[in-house]
Amino acid sequence: MIQYLTLRSREQTELIDITAQVEDLISSSRVTTGWCDVFVLHTTAAVTINEGADPAVKRDIAHCLDRLVPNAHYFTHAEGNSAAHVKSSLIGTSEKLLVERGKLLLGTWQALYFCEFDGPRERRVAVRISGE
Ligand code: ZN
Repeated sequence: MIQYLTLRSREQTELIDITAQVEDLISSSRVTTGWCDVFVLHTTAAVTINEGADPAVKRDIAHCLDRLVPNAHYFTHAEGNSAAHVKSSLIGTSEKLLVERGKLLLGTWQALYFCEFDGPRERRVAVRISGE
């Protein structure tokens, strides 16, 4: 079964920790060992895993991506958000995680982040939990 998270971003570029929300879906699925597929249903957003302990890390990643892919005069996409499309493809729109003891198997410092690149707006993330 595929479930959906609805998120509301507040910045143009922003990383939002969705670890707890995904683990809530795992709890209600009653799967204790298996997989969790996370897929972002947008072309200007992404999903990634990185440090969740120090909030400075997510801000640094967001600022670095903005500097890495600035708006450029040679972009031709009429909507004007090509930098966000490029960042989405660089980071990627899916993650496959392991589920162990009814939780995401993550390292001590790891968290699962939704990456907004063209906010603020409402977003949807598809989550499929499988296993036993
Ligand atoms: Zn566009």
